[in-house]
Amino acid sequence: MTTVAVVPGDDAAPEAMDASLDVLRAMNLPLDFDVLPTGAELAAQPMAEREAFMIERLDAADTVLFGSSNGSTPGIAHLRWGWLTYANVRPVQWRPGYRSPMAKPELLDYVIVRENLEDAYVGIMGDVDALRATDLIGPRARLAWEGEGRFAAKVITREGTEKVARFSYELAQKRSEANGRPASLTVSAKTNMLPATDRWFCEIVADIGAEYPDVARTEFIIDDMAHRLALHTADLDVVLMPNLYGDVLSDLGAGTIGGMGLAPSGCYGDGRAYFESAHGTAPDIAGQQRINPTATLLSAVMMLEWLDLGTEATRLDQAISAVYAKGRALTVDQGGTATTGEFATEVENLLS
Ligand code: ATP
Repeated sequence: MTTVAVVPGDDAAPEAMDASLDVLRAMNLPLDFDVLPTGAELAAQPMAEREAFMIERLDAADTVLFGSSNGSTPGIAHLRWGWLTYANVRPVQWRPGYRSPMAKPELLDYVIVRENLEDAYVGIMGDVDALRATDLIGPRARLAWEGEGRFAAKVITREGTEKVARFSYELAQKRSEANGRPASLTVSAKTNMLPATDRWFCEIVADIGAEYPDVARTEFIIDDMAHRLALHTADLDVVLMPNLYGDVLSDLGAGTIGGMGLAPSGCYGDGRAYFESAHGTAPDIAGQQRINPTATLLSAVMMLEWLDLGTEATRLDQAISAVYAKGRALTVDQGGTATTGEFATEVENLLS
């Protein structure tokens, strides 16, 4: 039996996970769910014990459905840097019934691939005095550095970029097979201001493109990309960005389809993957049964696809779409009055 570790997470996230798990259980899937404690339940243990406990259970599972963490639930760092899940896939797909602020939301159907391990998230930070002692300091920095300062380093590696580039080209091929559109990859970073990291990232992606002649590659500077995510989304299919830009701009993408409650994600490595909504723990609505579980359920759809349960993935995906198409039992963020649990029950009712 395939085991899925289910991590409820913190603040409002466990409410979304509970409701999603009810739907998954109603599907009678060939899966064993190992439901881990919430962050609140873990809080009595010292952090080192919590971490060891979580890592053991996560490693024992075949994959993980992760509710968002505010830090109380550990494990996410292990799932990223321990499992080396280098590609964070964040689909931006509008469905009829989503409350999008866009004039033509039907044009929104692309995925952001965010490199998941490098860039500004490598955790290299410190006092600028450490840099002053090196020969890395150019004239611009010298001018500004009279006094106290901190730095955070941004690191791009050839191996990391090649891996996420290949993943993205292959995703473009798969999407093209499924949607019948020409395979296309858009890559974006701050190439003009950051030649050492960002231009190099795009150059490596271009080099790897030689292995995928059937995938058209386009490149935009990240500020132009931001404007295109609002104005020219019909041209987009797979959009690859370094970690920080992908993190920020995928929230913009979520806003265009109708909000964070609709934004799923999957993080993929070689032979390992885990799945989590793109949103945070929504602390402002915790305990109110207002959190929209759609993002968690769509992350579960991605998980079922990865587990080769394609028919079941489609079944769940179609039931979610049907709830929005009918416009009944929608949560408050989508203009309805349903609770988290009522939405999930409606998804269950519409399962084929
Ligand atoms: P983090 O720092 O962990 O990302 P955050 O509070 O900054 O947390 P989110 O948790 O993503 O970010 O929340 C941003 C806003 O979106 C909040 O007002 C929150 O209530 C809302 N939100 C997020 N997820 C959902 C959801 N699933 N359903 C309804 N509203 C949501």
